[in-house]
Amino acid sequence: MEVLRTAAQLSRLDQWRGERPLVLVPTMGALHAGHLSLVETGARMGPVVVSIFVNPTQFAPGEDLDAYPRDLAADLALLEPLGVKAVFSPAVDEMYGQPGEVTVQPGSRGRGLCGGDRPGHFSGVLTVVAKLFGLVQPQVAIFGRKDAQQCLVIRQMVEDLRMPVSLVDGPTVREASGLAMSSRNRYLDEGQQERAMCLSQGLNTAREMLGNGERNRAALVGAMLRELKPADKIEYAEVRLVPNLEEPDEVSGEVLLAVAALVGPARLIDNLVLDLAEGDVVDGFLLGDPQQWSKA
Ligand code: AMP
Repeated sequence: MEVLRTAAQLSRLDQWRGERPLVLVPTMGALHAGHLSLVETGARMGPVVVSIFVNPTQFAPGEDLDAYPRDLAADLALLEPLGVKAVFSPAVDEMYGQPGEVTVQPGSRGRGLCGGDRPGHFSGVLTVVAKLFGLVQPQVAIFGRKDAQQCLVIRQMVEDLRMPVSLVDGPTVREASGLAMSSRNRYLDEGQQERAMCLSQGLNTAREMLGNGERNRAALVGAMLRELKPADKIEYAEVRLVPNLEEPDEVSGEVLLAVAALVGPARLIDNLVLDLAEGDVVDGFLLGDPQQWSKA
């Protein structure tokens, strides 16, 4: 496994450009089983490059940029056995050395939800993802459905800017308790971890209601808000449509259940993407199904 630190070193990726697609899994490190599941999905598709970069521009002022966990040696030890070909782990200067003036702004999908709570967040995400796509030039990039709004703004960037990359999303990996895995779970003590379960419980309650035929958005939101009470601060509980995040009174088609809350020192988010189209409530996709892509 090669560890590449500079843009110039990325020419080494050429040895893996061939019939199978070069797959990029962008991360901010502090890797856990959620990240590793995306890597495993990628490895079934082609040679995998993992980027590890704590991107300063996606942290709003006052957020946890300095405290964000960084442990490259531990991350490399987790990636090596998965057959990852290369890790791209640039310094901040390598990505932002020249005072850049051009940034990528999200469209309407970046408003509300995390875009409302975290000013500049999605512009920071899109700008760094665009840079990573330009540098690595992957054929496929994989993102986690846990960051559902992020998936949708990236999808719109790729479509609108005609970027030559196929996107795939992977399911959310959870602790046995239901808590979605997150690098920020390290901030939680035991009691906080227990309270943090309220996020997935809120989503599951709404999923059950959908399964029982409830389609009224306000009723679903109300139920999620009730479940989120153990959190220290609820940032949002919303029900939106995929992919454009509309908020109709009655939901149908593909639905995003989205919650964000503060528990102790951590801002946590969780999502479920559910497809109601066939009558049953089944998991939906935000980008592409990796299996379909492999067959294509
Ligand atoms: P991050 O390092 O938090 O920026 O996440 C890197 C990628 O891993 C993003 O595409 C996330 O959506 C994804 N990811 C984070 N947590 C999980 C999880 N629990 N399950 C699946 N994917 C995840």
